[in-house]
Amino acid sequence: MKFDAIVIGGGIIGCTHAWYLAQRGLAVAVVEQAGLASGTSARNFSWVNASTKTSNAAYHNLNAMGVRLYAELAAELGEEIIGLNPAGALGVVSPTDPELYAGAQKQAQQLTALGYPNQWLSNDALRKAEPNVVFPDGAEALFTPSDKFLNAPRFTALMGDKIRALGGQIFENCEALEMLADDNGVVEGLRTNLGEMTAPRIIVATGPDTPEVLSALTGYDGFSRFPIGKVPGLLVTTPPVPDGLVRHLVHTDLGGEFHFFPDFNGGLRIASDDADGHVIEDRTPDHLRQLARGLLGRMQDYVPSFAGEACLDQCSLAIGVRAYPEDGHSIAGAMPGAEGLYVIATHSGVTLAPALGSLMATLVVDGEVPKALAPFGLERLSGFG
Ligand SMILES: Cc1cc2nc3c(=O)[nH]c(=O)nc-3n(C[C@H](O)[C@H](O)[C@H](O)COP(=O)(O)OP(=O)(O)OC[C@H]3O[C@@H](n4cnc5c(N)ncnc54)[C@H](O)[C@@H]3O)c2cc1C
Repeated sequence: MKFDAIVIGGGIIGCTHAWYLAQRGLAVAVVEQAGLASGTSARNFSWVNASTKTSNAAYHNLNAMGVRLYAELAAELGEEIIGLNPAGALGVVSPTDPELYAGAQKQAQQLTALGYPNQWLSNDALRKAEPNVVFPDGAEALFTPSDKFLNAPRFTALMGDKIRALGGQIFENCEALEMLADDNGVVEGLRTNLGEMTAPRIIVATGPDTPEVLSALTGYDGFSRFPIGKVPGLLVTTPPVPDGLVRHLVHTDLGGEFHFFPDFNGGLRIASDDADGHVIEDRTPDHLRQLARGLLGRMQDYVPSFAGEACLDQCSLAIGVRAYPEDGHSIAGAMPGAEGLYVIATHSGVTLAPALGSLMATLVVDGEVPKALAPFGLERLSGFG
């Protein structure tokens, strides 16, 4: 089997990138050890946003590009088809917590300076935006209307369909085992459990498994220290609730970090960075149920008509594992010293898939590093310069 490029990893990053490669006319193969969107892309919060990324302009702009490309895809193909809810996000604060309040106001100013749409909602406006949610007294919100949330597995499956429609191939239950290269380290192909494939380009998009996959592919143990942390998080998805009970993605630090949105199954998806901290310590089922009970109780504080803990047994509890680069920003580019080998490993990959996918296609096909991608290359990592 001969291809122009092999993408390893059938998550949202690998599939979206492969679609952009196929659009550029390359014969692509996606090699996925399980099924499409069976890794982190199936277990995450799916908030498509640039609103929380304000401290680094290049990283903000990369995320804003992702947000913009989803809007363009929705306009072209339809929100329902791509699995997008464009309702926007509400960052809820209150003057009763002056530090959080000032932080959100500063965030609004930064977003305005960066050209990212935002609007400050008074207490009245917030209550109108979410009439069924009870916020703390005097609460106000930073509304970011361009933010969205995505059915990431549906979007990934759509990418798979589009790759096939352009003549690309998807190999599921196909594990990448070893990179085939000539004596100078130039990529020649891939050995998998289903046989060998020939290609001059390999793109590794294996999320949190990236260090182990790079080690296995190259036979170089040093890659086990590839600078990616694995940070788990708990996602609780409730059974369906009345339509319109919650209308936006809501996030707040009042009384502890907490975020929720109306999920695509008709229920609510709920998570909290505070709970995630406890998941790191203990992932046993009993502990996860205890954490979920706490999240459902908090959800009921916000929406009194919601069943709360009583629906725990009908909820789905999932643990997702973030691939967290050491400086928090994406790692995307050519592997120094190995011609034809590329890596994409990132957090916020739901937001970033179209941006990284298309920018990396320019690099892989044209050999040019687009300006927007330049700050995220592997050269910045210690040991790769
Ligand atoms: C709790 C949590 C909340 C999150 N919230 C958000 C959010 O709100 N917004 C946002 O933008 N992002 C969010 N993320 C991050 C986002 O989910 C990820 O960045 C994204 O899903 C990564 O996609 P990926 O394709 O890189 O990785 P994955 O989806 O993990 O895909 C990698 C694939 O590689 C395959 N693979 C591994 N090894 C091999 C091999 N040897 N051969 C073949 N295949 C292999 C795996 O099976 C897997 O399917 C969150 C993540 C978590 C965990």
